[in-house]
Amino acid sequence: MARGFDTQASPPRPDPLRSEREVRGVAASDPSTPLLEVEGVTLQYKTKQHLVTATYRVGFEVHRGDRFILLGPSGCGKSSLLKGVGGFMMPVEGSIRLNGRAIERPGPDRMMVFQEFDQLLPWKTVKQNVMFPMLASRRCSAREATERALAYIAKVGLDKFCDVYPHMLSGGMKQRVAIARAMAMEPEILLMDEPFAALDALTRRKMQDELLQLWDDIRFTMLFVTHSIEEAIIVGNRILVLSPHPGQVKAELNSVRGEGAEALQRRIRGMLFAEAVERAGAAP
Ligand code: ADP
Ligand code: MG
Repeated sequence: MARGFDTQASPPRPDPLRSEREVRGVAASDPSTPLLEVEGVTLQYKTKQHLVTATYRVGFEVHRGDRFILLGPSGCGKSSLLKGVGGFMMPVEGSIRLNGRAIERPGPDRMMVFQEFDQLLPWKTVKQNVMFPMLASRRCSAREATERALAYIAKVGLDKFCDVYPHMLSGGMKQRVAIARAMAMEPEILLMDEPFAALDALTRRKMQDELLQLWDDIRFTMLFVTHSIEEAIIVGNRILVLSPHPGQVKAELNSVRGEGAEALQRRIRGMLFAEAVERAGAAP
């Protein structure tokens, strides 16, 4: 599976989006500063009875072109961190900055892809679904939205399904549409919350490869959440390992593929399993 990119990328990092940003006339920020800076972030939910701490003082940096993975067991606060970056949830402690600016609200520069197959609008066709955020955010004219929609639908291999409604698509195809829809917005960062977790194993594997091919083609930045160690190693170049509830950083690792991947998988499993054993031992 030779691919033209290095999954062991470590600093210094090139800025693959820079030339494109300059072509687009977007002020290219200093490539040495991270795109996303998460510092000491504690996230909490206040319910009537409880105060739930979802993450405790979590910190990490995502650079342009990273495929950055948040990995940890269910309930460790991965989705909450994505919500924080998405601007749907404010930290009670710490800060989240994109391009040096504190995130205060949701915005079209951060598009989210979810696990659920029902994230598409059922009364709109594939093409209309992909066009919808571009039009609603007034980012594009109708003509540009159409052009971009067709281009990104082709990139996920669904050109023949432009005028089909979501109920006629398989789960994998629906996820491809959701990915095309998010990517067509050309966000600064793509937020993906276990996008393949509800797919069968074969389709999941295929989608992981397709996502890597898309990355090879477009070099976008993504923050990808998963509870699968295997998926983290396949999809990511950087992996943040989180402890169980409340999520705290256990380690930040460079991913490796091919030789070394198995050892890395064992190492991460050891980290997560050790925690489980400690907890089991501590139980009354
Ligand atoms: P993950 O995505 O890693 O499975 P979440 O971020 O969804 O974890 O949840 C982290 C913790 O926050 C869990 O204990 C969960 O029960 C709690 N939590 C998540 N959403 C809410 C909510 N809306 N209200 C109260 N508690 C929540
Ligand atoms: Mg989650």
